[in-house]
Amino acid sequence: MKKESAIKQIKETLGPQGWSNDPDIMAPLLTDSEGGPQGNALILACPANTEEVSTVLQLCHQANIPVVPQGGNTGCCGGAIPNQTGTEVLLSLRRMNRIRDLDSTDYTLTAEAGCILHDLKHAAEEANRFFPLSLGAEGSCQIGGNLATNAGGINVLNYGNTRDLVLGLEVVLPDGTLWNGLRRLRKDNSGYDLKHLFIGSEGTLGIITAVTLKLFPLPHTSVTSCCALSNLESGLSLLAIAREYSGDQVNSFELLPRIAMEMIAKHRNDLRLPFPSDEAQWYVLMELNSSRKNDDLAALTETILEEAFTKNMITNAIIAQSEQQRNQLWSIREAAVEVQKSEGYSVSHDVAVPVSKVAELIKLTCERASELLPGIRPYPFGHVGDGNIHFNFFKPDDMTDIDFKGLTSKIHTLVYETVNELNGSISAEHGIGRAKTDELEIYRSAIEISLMKAVKETIDPSYLMNPGKVINQKT
Ligand SMILES: Cc1cc2nc3c(=O)[nH]c(=O)nc-3n(C[C@H](O)[C@H](O)[C@H](O)COP(=O)(O)OP(=O)(O)OC[C@H]3O[C@@H](n4cnc5c(N)ncnc54)[C@H](O)[C@@H]3O)c2cc1C
Repeated sequence: MKKESAIKQIKETLGPQGWSNDPDIMAPLLTDSEGGPQGNALILACPANTEEVSTVLQLCHQANIPVVPQGGNTGCCGGAIPNQTGTEVLLSLRRMNRIRDLDSTDYTLTAEAGCILHDLKHAAEEANRFFPLSLGAEGSCQIGGNLATNAGGINVLNYGNTRDLVLGLEVVLPDGTLWNGLRRLRKDNSGYDLKHLFIGSEGTLGIITAVTLKLFPLPHTSVTSCCALSNLESGLSLLAIAREYSGDQVNSFELLPRIAMEMIAKHRNDLRLPFPSDEAQWYVLMELNSSRKNDDLAALTETILEEAFTKNMITNAIIAQSEQQRNQLWSIREAAVEVQKSEGYSVSHDVAVPVSKVAELIKLTCERASELLPGIRPYPFGHVGDGNIHFNFFKPDDMTDIDFKGLTSKIHTLVYETVNELNGSISAEHGIGRAKTDELEIYRSAIEISLMKAVKETIDPSYLMNPGKVINQKT
C-alpha cells in the first residue's frame, strides 16, 4: 500500500477528532520531559478505542510506516518521541482513558491504556481499594506508559514495580492483530507468561491498549519520618532494622543528600527544611504503612528510631504528627527533583545496584567523578530502599555549561562502569528509550542482546514499532 493512501485511510478511520498535523498541537509532544532532541512526525493519531488502534497499525504495517506510541510523555529517555525525519506516525493513547471495570471482590481494576495514573488511583480509592504505583509524574503519566516502562516509584518496597501489579493485558501487535490477554487470574501457569514481554518493552513490540491491575486494601495508617544519618552505610542498617521490626511494613525509603537540602534552601525558600541547622551529609525519608486498623505505627516508628539512635545510625529524627507535616516532608522529596531544573544543566543517570552495595556505589562514583573533574557536584538521591539511585552531577561553580556538557559521555561511562563492577543495572526504572541503546549493548551480555533481538524480530520483523528505541536494528 502507498503511504499517502494509508495516511488518508487513517484520517478517515479516526475522524476529525482523532488526528492532527497542527504544529502547535504537536510541538509539546515532540520533545520529552528531559528536553531531549526534538522529533518530527508524519501525523498525530489519537484513536478512541482498541479497534481504531488495530486499524491504524494494520494500515501502517501494510504501508511500511513506523509507529511511535506515546502516553503522558513524562518519560525520561526519549522513548515516546519520533525521530527527526517526519516519516513516523505518533500514536497517542490520550483519548483511551476509560475505566472498563472495577471489581472490589476480585481486587481488580481494568482500564484503558490512556488512563492518567492519578485518575486510576482515585477510582480505586472511591471503591475503598488501593492502587499503589506512585510517582512524581502521576498527574500526567498514563497507565499504558507506566506498563511500557515498568515504572517504579516510591512504593516499590512493599508492592513491587508496575510489572508486579499486572494480571492481564490487551495488546495490539505491529500488524494490527489484537491479543486479548485481559485475564484476572491470580494463578495461571499455562505456558509462557506473554504479558511480561510487553511490560517494560517501551512500545517496541506492540501497543498496550488495556490492562487488568491488582488492587489492595487501602492503607489505614501511614507514618512518615525523616532522619539525619551518621553516615551513608547507617542508612542501610536503618532500613534493615526497620524492615525487621515492622515485619516489612516499610513502604518508602528515600535518600536525600546534603546538596539537595542546600539547593532546596536556595531555590524554594517557601519550604521548611526538616533540620535547618543540621550538618549531616545524608538524610532519609521513611514511611511505614499498614492496612490494619489497630497497628500503632507511630509507636513502632519511635522504637525503630530509638534503636537507630542507640546504635549511632542517626543523629536527628522527626516523625510527622499530622497529615500536614507528612505532606511537608514529602514536599521536600518532590522539591529535591524540581530544584535541579532551577540549578541548571546536569548529567543524569537512573541506576540500580543490590541494596547492600548502594553506599559503595555512591562513594566510588563520587571519588572517580572528582578525579575526572575536581569540584564536580554529585547529586545522588532517590529510591535507596530498592537500590535505585538517581545519580546526577552538576558542574563546578567556575565552569561553563558548554565545557561541562563536553564531559557528558565521560561521566556516563564512569557511572556505568562503576555500576557494572557492582553487578548493577544502567537503567533502574526509566528504561532505555533512545538515550541508552548503545549502553544496553555494552552492559547486557551478548546472549541477552541476541535473545532480545530474536523476540523483537519474531513479533516485529520489519522494526516498525518504535524503531531506534531499546534495541538497535541489525545493519
Ligand atoms: C517529575 C517526574 C517524576 C518521575 N518519577 C518517576 C519515578 O519515580 N519512577 C519511574 O519509574 N519513573 C518516573 N518518571 C518517569 C516517567 O513518569 C515514567 O517513565 C512513566 O511510566 C512514563 O509514563 P508516560 O505515560 O508518560 O509514558 P511516555 O513518556 O509517553 O512513554 C514512555 C515509553 O512508553 C511507550 N508507551 C507509552 N504508552 C504506551 C502504550 N500504551 N503501549 C506501548 N508503549 C507505550 C512510549 O513509546 C515510550 O517508549 C518521572 C518523570 C517525571 C517527569
